[in-house]
Amino acid sequence: MLRVRLAGILIAVVVLTVSAAEDELLPGFTRESSTAERQWEGKFRAIPNADNQREYMRRLTARPHHVGSAYDRQNAEWILSKFKEWGWDAQMETFDVLFPTPKERVLEMIEPVRFTAKLQEPPVSVDPTSNQQSEQLPSYNAYSTDGDVTGPLVFVNYGLPKDYEELDRLGISAKGAIVIAKYGHSWRGIKPKVAAEHGAIGCIIYSDPGDDGFSSDDVFPKGPMRPPDGVQRGSVMDFPSSSPGDPLTPGIGATADAKRLAVKDASSITKIPVLPISYADAQPLLAALTGPMAPRDWRGALPISYHLGPGSAKVHLKVNFNWDLKTLYNVIAKISGAEQPDAWIIRGNHHDAWVNGAEDPTSGQVALLEEARSLGELVKQGWRPKRTIIYCAWDGEEPMLLGSTEWAETHVKELQEHAVVYINSDGNGRGYLNVEGSHTLEHFINGVAADIKDPETELSASQRDRLAAIARAKNAEDRQEVRQRAEVRIGALGSGSDYTAFLDHVGIASLNLGYGGEDEGGIYHSIYDDFYWFTHFSDKDFVYARALSQTIGTAVMRLANADLLPFEFNGLADTIRLYLKQLKKLADDTREATLERNKQIEEGVFNATHDPRRPRPAPSKEDVPPHLNFAPLENASDALVVSAQRYHSALTQHWNKDVAARTLQDLNRKLMQAEHVLTTAEGLPRRPWYKHIIYAPGVYSGYDAKTIPGVREAIEQKRWDELNAEIIRVATALRGEVELINSAAELLERSGR
Ligand SMILES: [Zn+2]
Repeated sequence: MLRVRLAGILIAVVVLTVSAAEDELLPGFTRESSTAERQWEGKFRAIPNADNQREYMRRLTARPHHVGSAYDRQNAEWILSKFKEWGWDAQMETFDVLFPTPKERVLEMIEPVRFTAKLQEPPVSVDPTSNQQSEQLPSYNAYSTDGDVTGPLVFVNYGLPKDYEELDRLGISAKGAIVIAKYGHSWRGIKPKVAAEHGAIGCIIYSDPGDDGFSSDDVFPKGPMRPPDGVQRGSVMDFPSSSPGDPLTPGIGATADAKRLAVKDASSITKIPVLPISYADAQPLLAALTGPMAPRDWRGALPISYHLGPGSAKVHLKVNFNWDLKTLYNVIAKISGAEQPDAWIIRGNHHDAWVNGAEDPTSGQVALLEEARSLGELVKQGWRPKRTIIYCAWDGEEPMLLGSTEWAETHVKELQEHAVVYINSDGNGRGYLNVEGSHTLEHFINGVAADIKDPETELSASQRDRLAAIARAKNAEDRQEVRQRAEVRIGALGSGSDYTAFLDHVGIASLNLGYGGEDEGGIYHSIYDDFYWFTHFSDKDFVYARALSQTIGTAVMRLANADLLPFEFNGLADTIRLYLKQLKKLADDTREATLERNKQIEEGVFNATHDPRRPRPAPSKEDVPPHLNFAPLENASDALVVSAQRYHSALTQHWNKDVAARTLQDLNRKLMQAEHVLTTAEGLPRRPWYKHIIYAPGVYSGYDAKTIPGVREAIEQKRWDELNAEIIRVATALRGEVELINSAAELLERSGR
């Protein structure tokens, strides 16, 4: 369920041409092994073929292939047969999970005029797969609760907590109402959650043409954008507050004999009914609203006056689902390591879609498949990885990361012991290389991106990203950083794809990679995300699919073959220092804003400036946030900087001289724990499934990452009493990381004596 995010773009600082980088020693390799590795990588990168990728996509997207459909299983079996054909040791691993599908969907306006929503995406004659209606899942939000509600309608902008604060100020309540929210600006499941918290009884989510419709470009099939009847399906499972994966087996694998909760006890199902609709269906509802005008920046691109309601518009929403268990088909394929079979490099991309799913997920899946074929080719030519490579084609990602989460929960013990890195991709398109992930891999992945040629510009992927980042930087300070930072900046991982369980729950260093940013589209999770759309409006010659295969395949080979695992800590230390700076600023800003607002309330500013004809009651005074003691975190962060530098100089001085095999083994064992040390057994407050102290999806943002989440969310949610304990918990985990890095540095230092 990708969304392209520009914030995560990789910024490489040292300008290296593709050829100049070639005699540089690869991180973690000796002179001799680096040369051999570069030769094999060169052979590898010549193999992926864009025409093959186009044919895989044609095959995989020929019919709808959501969880539980016949074609989902047939695709999994086809993928399995391909892996076997290419020489992999491959098998199917199945789970049985709760996956609701719609039985009944009704949305109608009963006052002041009658209107019944169509809830139907029509076929388009030029698009040959858009007419497979008997196999398409109807438009709906998975894990909405059943419900039959009637009430006044209220427009809530994007349905975020701050939108409800604004509604409060305007004297409008969502209590007892059915709210209508625009898609965007948060993950969709946040909208019904926040609506329910404000007393709403139902939630409608629609795609406004101002966000992904005609205001950007022509609509499909003339252009790439969302047509009037196009609907974004999607999961609304409340995974950020509980956990992703099967709602009936939280924290354990959904195997045949697993102990399951009753559906009524599953905490990640929404509290109120939810239904997604098109803007053709939304327009009559919105046009019937009266009440105050919506604030200017809430208004979309429909040719109507956007009122907030409630007024006389009354709506009836009824949804009922089949609450069945469905079988997931994960394909798991292996090439065993020749020297360290018990160290695993894991790579995954999902294969299930909401409908035909060409962009999401097949554009990423075809990259994974060409990597697998190419690695198989290398094995035939005599290549063997040192470590074991495991490729995973996940099922059930769309409903909420079901296949990857259940697999990770089932194998948690083995993963903690054996997994080195997890590399994910999802949808892929034309443009820049987006990199998000563990900052222990920042240095490593920059090296990979420097060796990949961008298909359109002939620059390396990292050069192109760096130059794009300079163009995009908002001010001189940001530009300065892009130009001067000796290392690379990568984005933090929130959620929204299959890396979540690996990073957040198990504590495995993870990366999410994909190209994109040049083409716009409005077909996300609709019947129009298909082969016709992709081959007309996206990476139509598949050159970026090929580039993604080259990028990730190179990363996998390098990780599988490095003598010393290429984790580095300067990037991590610098990033933690940056996050800490942001947290202190957030705390200061929150304090100052509260002080200022209280002062203005006392001065009578709000009462003096509101328009008596449009009453806007003054907010009430709030307690001023206390000053916080960040010292434990600052001290831990400083210590991390020192230990990271120590490791780096130990590496510079002693690596590639005389590190004994035994020392190397000890070092690798330590480095494999470097991400796990950043987790705690008890997990985050109120959501113990999330164990990482640096990265998590936001409770009120969803996919967007919250960095140092225990502390950041306590500030955002004004849980002041929780903060000092959280600061100490994070500081303690960082101290553990410092200790591990120091002991690794010491091993290197001693080896040089
Ligand atoms: Zn996806």
